[in-house]
Amino acid sequence: MQTLDKRTEEICAEFAKVYDGAPTHVAIGPGRVNLIGEHTDYNDGFVLPVALDKDVRVVFRPRSDRRVRLYAVEFDTWADFDLDNMAFDNEVFWANYTMGVAWALEKTGVRLVGLEGVVSGNIPRGSGLSSSAGLEISNALALLSAADSLDALTGVQIAKAAQHAENAFVGVNCGIMDQFISTLGEEGNALLIDCRSLEYQRVPFPAGASLVIGNTKASRSLASSAYNERRAQCEEGVAALQVALPGITALRDVTSAQLEAHKELLSPVVYRRCRHVVGENERVAATVQALAAGDLDEVGRLMNASHESLRYDYEVSSDALDAMVEAMRSVPGCLGARLTGAGFGGCAVALVSKGQERAVRDAILERYSKAMNIWPEVYISPASAGARIFALE
Ligand code: ADP
Ligand code: MG
Repeated sequence: MQTLDKRTEEICAEFAKVYDGAPTHVAIGPGRVNLIGEHTDYNDGFVLPVALDKDVRVVFRPRSDRRVRLYAVEFDTWADFDLDNMAFDNEVFWANYTMGVAWALEKTGVRLVGLEGVVSGNIPRGSGLSSSAGLEISNALALLSAADSLDALTGVQIAKAAQHAENAFVGVNCGIMDQFISTLGEEGNALLIDCRSLEYQRVPFPAGASLVIGNTKASRSLASSAYNERRAQCEEGVAALQVALPGITALRDVTSAQLEAHKELLSPVVYRRCRHVVGENERVAATVQALAAGDLDEVGRLMNASHESLRYDYEVSSDALDAMVEAMRSVPGCLGARLTGAGFGGCAVALVSKGQERAVRDAILERYSKAMNIWPEVYISPASAGARIFALE
């Protein structure tokens, strides 16, 4: 049995308002921030995210039939559907994540049962810290637990089912990173994930540093069309490079030297897109090495280089993200800073020497708000645990 923390207690209080009786479990799906490896996941490449101490959680109890009823505190709306009759919901958008996850889990062969519960999250929504994965993974654990099938799937299978839900049911063309780290994240560690093989390895987060995340609060309205365009440009690059490099199936297979040798096959724009992805994969590998060697200055330099590459080659930064990164870097204790997530808005992440977190936060509040006339939010999070579930009294 779990001693309730304050947030779970509050969600249980919401449960008591809308149902009779008590919930039996709480399922927790964290958000994430990616240290480095941006726009590499859908190129079969490498990423290095950490799970955050912010999450979406569901308190729930199983039902004996196949009806799923969930109340979302932040939206004040319900998902209420039958597992045998799921259709895209145009009115309650978030319900599609729940339905999609149920649909994708059953496609793996698991037979689910219904549940009733309350969902609540403190991951800022639509800011690139993956509240959607937090919702999916907390829901996946809740559904599997209700059906007494938590052991039926591995963490990797759960992450894949959640990604499939988001791609095929919700209709968002995301890679695997978010669901993977939300499911498998480990306290005190980043995960190096090979997005092709889905092999992963723990990379201890350095004791001498902290993560400071700056939320630009700027609109991401350009993000989804540009995201799809970038994906298409990467595919175009692979198709063109295959003329000279027939063995490749993704940009993950291309080295910087090969890209330079065959750049004449690519339009200038597609070349720059490829240069970002190829270079970024190499920076992930270099970051893992620098972390192992305890060379935090080098990690910071690689993060800075990642940002410049995203800004000038991949062209997914924005005035707000550049202003955020500049504010972070204005503090000497900031080792490196870069945009994180798809870009065009959302958040930037800084690696900061221990003890310098508040100085960086203050610089963000002061300089970013002045530059952009927007009041940002700042989060300081340790590398936290991945998804988990607890029985409640
Ligand atoms: P991000 O994953 O970067 O936060 P997305 O647009 O991918 O942004 O996902 C945000 C969506 O996830 C929200 O619009 C909502 O549908 C769903 N969501 C996130 N948090 C919650 C929550 N606490 N309750 C219900 N739905 C949520
Ligand atoms: Mg998302």
